[in-house]
Amino acid sequence: MITLGHWDTRPVTISVKPNCITVSVDDPKEADVFSYDLAGRLWTAFLDGTAYRRGLDGKMVAKRRLPGEARERRWLTRTEALAIEDHARQQMVDLYTAIQSGAARLNTPLPAAGHAAFERAIRFDAARSQADVERYGQVYQPVGILPPDQYMAVVLQATEGCSFNTCNFCSFYKERPFRIKRPDEFRAHAAAVRDFLGDGLSLRRTIFLGDANALVVPMPRLMPLVDAVHEVYDVPALGGLYAFLDGFSGEKKTISDYRALAHKGLTRVYVGLESGCDDLLAFLRKPGQAADSVQAVRAMKAAGVAVGVIVLLGAGGQTYAAAHVRETIRTVNDMGLDGDDILYFSELVVDDDLPYARAAYEAGLTPLGAAERIAQGEMIEDGLRFSGEPPQISRYDIREFIY
Ligand code: SF4
Repeated sequence: MITLGHWDTRPVTISVKPNCITVSVDDPKEADVFSYDLAGRLWTAFLDGTAYRRGLDGKMVAKRRLPGEARERRWLTRTEALAIEDHARQQMVDLYTAIQSGAARLNTPLPAAGHAAFERAIRFDAARSQADVERYGQVYQPVGILPPDQYMAVVLQATEGCSFNTCNFCSFYKERPFRIKRPDEFRAHAAAVRDFLGDGLSLRRTIFLGDANALVVPMPRLMPLVDAVHEVYDVPALGGLYAFLDGFSGEKKTISDYRALAHKGLTRVYVGLESGCDDLLAFLRKPGQAADSVQAVRAMKAAGVAVGVIVLLGAGGQTYAAAHVRETIRTVNDMGLDGDDILYFSELVVDDDLPYARAAYEAGLTPLGAAERIAQGEMIEDGLRFSGEPPQISRYDIREFIY
């Protein structure tokens, strides 16, 4: 429900939805906009031309685009993030006080849900925010990465770490030994996440089974974990289950395994193909070969499970570029993707301390520049052929990840 009004001379818009409240206050230059989940956590803010997004772990990213310039992104310090939260909260306090005193005039009365959402946001002060972040740290191991369309999921860590942990371009789980949770332990984790989110659960759209490789768990151990999710959450209402499957040298699931998982709500699996070129996969120390990915994707699709396939742009530099493009086109074309699926192009991000950097140096690779990485994605895209509705094709920037 949308309520319009005025606060002094400034137009005010208050949007109360079943999952969040968004307040917009015009000022002479640009509107300030704040959105909160129904537990009172700041979710997004737009202030002085900068967009902010707060993660459940309290981290906050700021993005802005100056006229004629590329978009700028910066991760705030905790102190800076708390200052933004405090500024937004103070605006909520001032506006709510003005509404109650009549100094802000609304065209229609604020609904009861709007009062409740205002009061939650106002109660979520700096001490509450800090306590929330600490609670997050008790409930979760650090969440390494999610596909971009899953940033609003409920992440449940059925496993911790990555069962392979060999890929030389990936540092997400290097310090975390792989382990599979027991069903009772996982059920307790799922319940703790639900309790942590509180009324903020309504803002979450799907359930993502973490960490890197939850679907590598053998079926006899995986199904009790999936059942535990159903005991704690209404999986269909939350939009189903999603997960990564990364690296294919381990146990392979059959079509009937995927059917059984689809029956339990598995909706999309994200597959880190990286490249269709086996020599490049070997250089990246990625387990398995491109044909394993094709086989896995075809099994999922046959079982009615959608996929998100991730291709790594710039991997292997100039040395592998031609084979990477050629073989990735061939591999993706073999997968039989359709309109239910997503194809992600993710640019390689290399820190000096990654084993990839040393391997590339020793191999004498010339890296691709930013424009060349983008051109590589366009070359791959140009070569793709789909028999029906094509998959969605999107960019995947791991530096933007926020949960
Ligand atoms: S399989 Fe995936 S999560 Fe594991 S090390 Fe490789 S890229 Fe990282």
